[in-house]
Amino acid sequence: VADRRLLIGALEYKEKRVKDVMTALEHCFLLEERSRLNFSTMLAIYKSGFTRIPVYSGVRQNITGVLYVKDLILIDPDDNTELGSVLAFRGRNATYVREDVKLDVVFKEFMSSANHMLLVQGALNGGPEANSAASVCGLITLEDVMEELIGAEILDE
Ligand code: ADP
Repeated sequence: VADRRLLIGALEYKEKRVKDVMTALEHCFLLEERSRLNFSTMLAIYKSGFTRIPVYSGVRQNITGVLYVKDLILIDPDDNTELGSVLAFRGRNATYVREDVKLDVVFKEFMSSANHMLLVQGALNGGPEANSAASVCGLITLEDVMEELIGAEILDE
């Protein structure tokens, strides 16, 4: 049964597109770049359980960077540091993919880079490789693609 599922997953995933497996923006845990890294923000980050948190400016669709939770290890919540200033020296640029791109293309991209999260943009935004900070509608990670590939859910801690 497991072999069959793997085979079917491997055959079917090629037909699927980013929008079929992404996490929609409304379900994403994001932070505003002017947020203060005080105790309550740090607690919310901890409780979210995510390792990468997209950061937006003003409106959620306007993603300006990605915070890696491991980069918070030396931050003292009592300093009330502004998130934007952490991003300025530790942040990673957000990278984008269009919602209509097929999963095998995204998979190859994940395999050839150390970046395993992409922000998803609507198909109407920009060219085929839209790479500006145009309106974001979700995010996709390597895990979303792997689950489709193996036809099963991966249980995370
Ligand atoms: P993590 O390492 O943070 O657990 P994974 O890459 O294992 O993230 O992804 C697990 C699931 O969580 C995927 O479905 C992915 O789309 C989703 N995900 C990852 N980061 C976030 C986030 N910041 N907000 C909402 N969902 C997220």
